[in-house]
Amino acid sequence: MTTEILHAKLKENFGFEKFRPNQEDIINCILSGQDTLAIMPTGGGKSICFQLPALVLPGITIVISPLIALMKDQVDSLKANGIAACYINSSQSSEEQQLHIQNLKDNKVKLVYVAPESLSYLENAFSQITVSLIAIDEAHCISAWGHDFRPAYTNLGYLKNRFPSTPILALTATADKATRTDISDQLNLINPKIFVASFDRKNLSLEVRPALDRVKQIIDFIKDKPNECGIVYCLSRKTTEELAEKLQKIGIKAKAYHAGLDNKIRSKTQDEFINDDCQVVCATIAFGMGIDKSNVRWVIHYNLPKNIEGYYQEIGRAGRDGLPSETVLFESYGDVIQLQKFASEGLNAEVQLAKLERMKQYADALSCRRKILLSYFGELVTENCGNCDICKNPPAFFDGTIIAQKALSAVMRLQESEALPVIVDFLRGSKSASIYDKGYQNLKTYSVGADISWHDWNQYIIQLINLGYCEIAFHQQNKIKLTAFAKKVLFEGEKVQLTTVLKFNAEKSEISQA
Ligand code: ADP
Ligand code: ZN
Repeated sequence: MTTEILHAKLKENFGFEKFRPNQEDIINCILSGQDTLAIMPTGGGKSICFQLPALVLPGITIVISPLIALMKDQVDSLKANGIAACYINSSQSSEEQQLHIQNLKDNKVKLVYVAPESLSYLENAFSQITVSLIAIDEAHCISAWGHDFRPAYTNLGYLKNRFPSTPILALTATADKATRTDISDQLNLINPKIFVASFDRKNLSLEVRPALDRVKQIIDFIKDKPNECGIVYCLSRKTTEELAEKLQKIGIKAKAYHAGLDNKIRSKTQDEFINDDCQVVCATIAFGMGIDKSNVRWVIHYNLPKNIEGYYQEIGRAGRDGLPSETVLFESYGDVIQLQKFASEGLNAEVQLAKLERMKQYADALSCRRKILLSYFGELVTENCGNCDICKNPPAFFDGTIIAQKALSAVMRLQESEALPVIVDFLRGSKSASIYDKGYQNLKTYSVGADISWHDWNQYIIQLINLGYCEIAFHQQNKIKLTAFAKKVLFEGEKVQLTTVLKFNAEKSEISQA
């Protein structure tokens, strides 16, 4: 199809003047009958990639989408544009479902949205309808390598066998290389053409802060921009409610949002946020999917996210209008420990722990954060971005060999049987019960670090952990253990570079299992 015709369709049906990057190529690829894998960031404009072909193709486009709650919105907005669409899911009566299926058979509908669990409702009709395109949204849900695995997706592989000559378009915002291959394999795609749109969102600033006093930091941050709205992502439902309450108390229009709240309350909050009647939503990750608000000016992560995919999707909800927007991530040592525990107890523990480790490395980065993010998504960047905290404030290193020697020998003297707080107490010569009860005050190395503050010791030891000289045994009450590399510092004169950048605090985690 010529570029003129496609542009005319885009304008006529959706009101847009030009295509976003990759949209036109993806559409042409589908129209040529080829299986396609489209990887685009949130807000990149994935929907057009199947909605426009649906209009051009003779038969019906089936859209598989996991989010029942969003189907109605999508179908409504298609209808508002004069496009015949419907959805079929378990929330409907069987009469209603039958009516839609009859419409499909009569070719009165161009697009049908269906949840993977509900695909069986359509099966009887398959032989009587012409399927021109199958679009699988949130395709990463099929892969256990992804971060949002959904068992119902694993059955979708049969679609290719059922409709061998119908092109399949798999769409996702979040796929690393392993996940991409897995999506393609599991859907039985035939030589799919893969499109990866740039994930770079230059207008989003990136910043990581230690979580010390994070509520106060958040309040100061919001007070600084009274007319700008944003989202604070928290890991637990409880935190969303507590934080919203604290903000309300000082007169900030804030609401909590999580999956445990009543549907009505949730959609009210959503509407208020979209209409700028609510300035701040304190939310779990349940908030944001499908929310089309272009002027979200900032996103804060109260807790460390579980993985980079989730983090990137969530910060991506800021600044969709392309204007400068801020993102801040609070990193706490306690959160990391807690998340490691969850991950190791959950499904696919090994994969999830590895993903968490990447997330932590990002937060601990001492080089341009955007480079790290983009390389995670397979983009090679050579220039530093200039819009992250590291670029704006490069860390200064100093010779921390003596500090490292003191800390590591403290760990050794305590026989690798204590967690971080006791080690710091020991170094600082504390007279607390945790020291005296065990007679630690009589050991060598006791109080050799009284000149350094508790907080700084804490930071330095975390840096030593990140540098690989010691580690946290999170299955053994978080005891600090030495690694083989510690020997080099203790006995072989290896030099250690530390930085004064504050990265962590060891406050107790506020995460509880949601
Ligand atoms: P995604 O599913 O990738 O997150 P959407 O398909 O919901 O993104 O699109 C995000 C926003 O961008 C929507 O508001 C959509 O209307 C808008 N959009 C999509 N394509 C274009 C385009 N070519 N020009 C302008 N706006 C677009
Ligand atoms: Zn940078």
